[in-house]
Amino acid sequence: MWYKMLIPSGVKCIICGAECNGTALCPDCYNSLPFIHNHCRVCGGEVYGELDICDDCVGNPHLYDRCHCVLEYDGVVRDKILALKNNHKKYIALPLSDILMQEYGKLGWNVDIIVPVPIHDNRRKERGYNQSELICSRLSNDTGLVDTNILTRVVDTPHQTGLDRANRKKNIHSAFKVSDRSKVKGKTILVIDDIYTTGSTIDECVKTLKKAGANAVYVLCLSRTPVK
Ligand SMILES: [Zn+2]
Ligand SMILES: [Zn+2]
Repeated sequence: MWYKMLIPSGVKCIICGAECNGTALCPDCYNSLPFIHNHCRVCGGEVYGELDICDDCVGNPHLYDRCHCVLEYDGVVRDKILALKNNHKKYIALPLSDILMQEYGKLGWNVDIIVPVPIHDNRRKERGYNQSELICSRLSNDTGLVDTNILTRVVDTPHQTGLDRANRKKNIHSAFKVSDRSKVKGKTILVIDDIYTTGSTIDECVKTLKKAGANAVYVLCLSRTPVK
């Protein structure tokens, strides 16, 4: 189980390096994380004004039934997620997976299956792991609902970074496939991702799962790029 494998001996806080027990995130650093407080009613990102919908969601409809984002993708959160993705720092996933589990518990959503956004086999060979699977390790451990085989990425798409909304959508089109429709039909599925930017990748996953017969698709993202 990934969750157990991620726990290093002599745990230190991933942010300040202080010795701490178990979770690799000391209480001070945990408390200083940019948790989202005023959630957009559509994407679950932070809203800054009086409205309950963010500027990004006005005029950009999405296919998911519910979406919740936990942290603002900024500063230390961005640094740590990038280090997890690009610098082989797998241990960073451990406290992040604890945070996701905690949020999932608070949401009280009733789901049948939890699916991390898959990466293509080529990317997995290059990186050695899927960071979205790693941040699901605690959910996998505690709920037993995580399935990493149902949804696969069949197109090795170029990175979405630097692309605008229209090109992100085009880039990710038809990139995913459901391996066993009978497991998806009539089910409520929760998709997990590390970063929500325009929602293009998530929408493509949702579209693929719904086409395969999913009853509802919810989304939980560890972080959301700020919409200012
Ligand atoms: Zn710390
Ligand atoms: Zn929004």
